[in-house]
Amino acid sequence: MQNFECTNCGGKIFFANDFCLKCGSKTAFDPETIAMVSLSPIPETNTYQALNGDKNGPVRRYCANAAHNACNWLAEESSEEGFCAACELNDLIPNLGEPDSLEAWQDLERAKKRLIYSLLRFGLPTDATHLGKGRLTFNFVRGQMTGHLNGVITINITEADSVERERRRQYFDEPYRSLLGHLRHESGHFYWNVLIEGTDRIEEFRSLFGDERLDYSQALARHHDSGPAEGWQNLFVSAYASAHPWEDWAETWAHYIHMVDAVETAETEGIDPRAAGITFGFKWPFKKYDAYRAESFQSLQEHWIPLTVALNRLNRSMGHSDFYAFVTPAGAYKKLAFIHRAIRQSASWTKPG
Ligand SMILES: [Zn+2]
Ligand SMILES: [Zn+2]
Ligand SMILES: [Zn+2]
Repeated sequence: MQNFECTNCGGKIFFANDFCLKCGSKTAFDPETIAMVSLSPIPETNTYQALNGDKNGPVRRYCANAAHNACNWLAEESSEEGFCAACELNDLIPNLGEPDSLEAWQDLERAKKRLIYSLLRFGLPTDATHLGKGRLTFNFVRGQMTGHLNGVITINITEADSVERERRRQYFDEPYRSLLGHLRHESGHFYWNVLIEGTDRIEEFRSLFGDERLDYSQALARHHDSGPAEGWQNLFVSAYASAHPWEDWAETWAHYIHMVDAVETAETEGIDPRAAGITFGFKWPFKKYDAYRAESFQSLQEHWIPLTVALNRLNRSMGHSDFYAFVTPAGAYKKLAFIHRAIRQSASWTKPG
């Protein structure tokens, strides 16, 4: 995540803030510029103009979900319901009259906004209907299984309950479980359809991840009944990734986004990860390195590995569990590199015009 400054006072503003903690100006995230903006209210309306901006600049309003404290993004001008580019993707939200549903949904929206931020930074489309691949869609509901179908991501909102989530993490013997992790994973299934299915990348996909034509429901049932295959640690980012090539892709996809976003955040905070005696013989190029646009996977990896070692040590010094609780085998790095290339070849910014 980038660092944002208030355009009125220069104070630091955080991605989820709807006002500046220093000068009190209203703030919002503008998905068009992928940046936070400070706003000046237009009297007697619910509308705003960018502060210190062009007096004749466009009139802006908050997303309709700001009324529920569930969004701080600017509404899309084209949205009839007044939603932002991220909330437009919701098909179902929980019944807000039920106890705890509002808080759960607010947490899920915060995590979802971080996912959409990454997709915007990568230049990946959220709507692939022109390719016959549908549109990324979110259903936040109570009592349904978390999962995906044809680009529709369903999240069981009980995952937002931190006690319940920890119980499931232990039950499934996972090193890490978070709302953002779920959302990044499930988005991977949509982008498999967009970037791999029916494209000339399918053969390389199969050589790295295996043949996805393997019966999916049987593979998942086998995984849940008898656990991961022996030796999975040598090939996969997680035990669950060994269940089926699609799950391997989605798990690796989520790891790739973890990696890029964490490196960007470290970079914008000026964190220098010369950790645990690991040296790569390079100098951390402060403020110059853009993890979302990194040319080579290797350079990303060279930023990432020392960062995870440093942050794990930092977390241990606070008595927290590890920041990055995975051991990534060499085989999984090849898959991460494949995802890196697939995103870059498809991203809007790499195409001329
Ligand atoms: Zn300010
Ligand atoms: Zn919104
Ligand atoms: Zn999955």
